[in-house]
Amino acid sequence: MSNQNHKIMIGLEVHIQLTNLKSKLFCDCSNDYRGAEPNTHVCPICLGLPGSLPVLNKEAVEFATRLAIALDCRINHQFWFYRKNYHYPDLPKGFQISQYNKAGGKAFADGGKITIKINNHKKDILLNRIHLEEDPARLVHKGSIATSPYTLVDYNRSGVCLIEIVTEPIINSPEEAREFLKQLKSIVQYSEISNLDLQGSVRVDANISLKGHERSEAKNINSFKEVERALRHEIVRQKNIIKRGKSLILETRHWDEKRRITISLRKKEFEADYRYFPEQDLPPIEIDDEFIDKVRNELPEMPSERSHRLIREYDLSEFDSDNLVLDKNIANFFEDGVNSDPSFGPNEYKQFCNWLMNTILGWLNEHNMTINDTKLYTKQVVDLVNYVKEGRITTKIAKSLMVDLMQGDSVSKILEKKGKARISDQKIIEQLSRETIEENPKIVEDCTKNSKAIEALIGRVMKKTRGQADPWITRQIILKLLRKMEMID
Ligand SMILES: [Zn+2]
Repeated sequence: MSNQNHKIMIGLEVHIQLTNLKSKLFCDCSNDYRGAEPNTHVCPICLGLPGSLPVLNKEAVEFATRLAIALDCRINHQFWFYRKNYHYPDLPKGFQISQYNKAGGKAFADGGKITIKINNHKKDILLNRIHLEEDPARLVHKGSIATSPYTLVDYNRSGVCLIEIVTEPIINSPEEAREFLKQLKSIVQYSEISNLDLQGSVRVDANISLKGHERSEAKNINSFKEVERALRHEIVRQKNIIKRGKSLILETRHWDEKRRITISLRKKEFEADYRYFPEQDLPPIEIDDEFIDKVRNELPEMPSERSHRLIREYDLSEFDSDNLVLDKNIANFFEDGVNSDPSFGPNEYKQFCNWLMNTILGWLNEHNMTINDTKLYTKQVVDLVNYVKEGRITTKIAKSLMVDLMQGDSVSKILEKKGKARISDQKIIEQLSRETIEENPKIVEDCTKNSKAIEALIGRVMKKTRGQADPWITRQIILKLLRKMEMID
């Protein structure tokens, strides 16, 4: 289906939990609730008991400032919190403490951008604003939300700090959305404010429309990976409705991850429905330039800066470098690895990068793991690069070692265990080389004219040993034999 007739417009609202905070946004309860007994990380404040008073977590303001600087936003020097009223069992107070950028209210920061690259074409995805708010409690449904006979409420999540990042509706395809989220995840990781690989640390609402038609909002998409799928589905659904001559309605839809469809939940609510009003229990927040400068000076190196540095220091291509820096742990692994072997130069840097970005990352993606979930360590990859360079193993054999490498075994130990160690016994190789030379007079003849013909002889010895003969030793022996026969100089 072509996109030419309908320009796609997507705006994202990304909620991320600041999982690296020690405590919740307005109370001292531990932020680290994952795996805990339900309703054990709670206090009168995050349970919304009458008379309890919220106190703003200063570290949360610092984290938000870090992100705002990294995203190039304009931080507002004074703002206050608002109550967003709605009634739902996950909200004990009947309202959520959030921010509001209208009627005199201000977001935490306005504007900002993330630059994405698709097929070498750069595009700035402009942000509208970012703001702080508290997470509601977690509702647990037995089976599916539609058929569950009851709902359980776990208030451990209630009051955990969220940052909401709102883009302008200028994303024009699911691929652009995917690239945007990839970069955002990377910036969040480098800012050291959250681990977005943790279950439930991300929720995305996607507003999507075809130009000239009503938009829908796909709510509560639980992972960045699902966003692209949900958008693709929604585009097809909307186009089909238009094709049938019907009109689209403004509505909120639920992304059903298992069935991979969106389901209508309700007509979209409007801001007036939330009756925003200022939160009287919290004083206005002031952020001065001195504080912002201090945070700016302590901000770690960001992915785009790091990419430029890796190009300079390791002679990587822009493409390799941009991909390598996306995951901070992968980039650290690269730098630690290549710096640990003083014999490494641009060729080895490139090989090391290739192992990481192709074979290792492919394996991790396939197994839905991150590099820190494995026992992989840098010396193993240094060995892979060196062994292949020295001809001690072929690339094909090296690739077959992945499962064992991830378990933390050394390259030499795996090779020994698998019997894939080279046959490096000179007598065996010499015997096989003699046979090969006798069997292939035509190739031997070719060696006198073309030095590359020797590769065919080495290849035949390798075949006899099912790839296990040491290619370097084999080459030396064949050269020696051919010289003896005076076939080559
Ligand atoms: Zn609490």
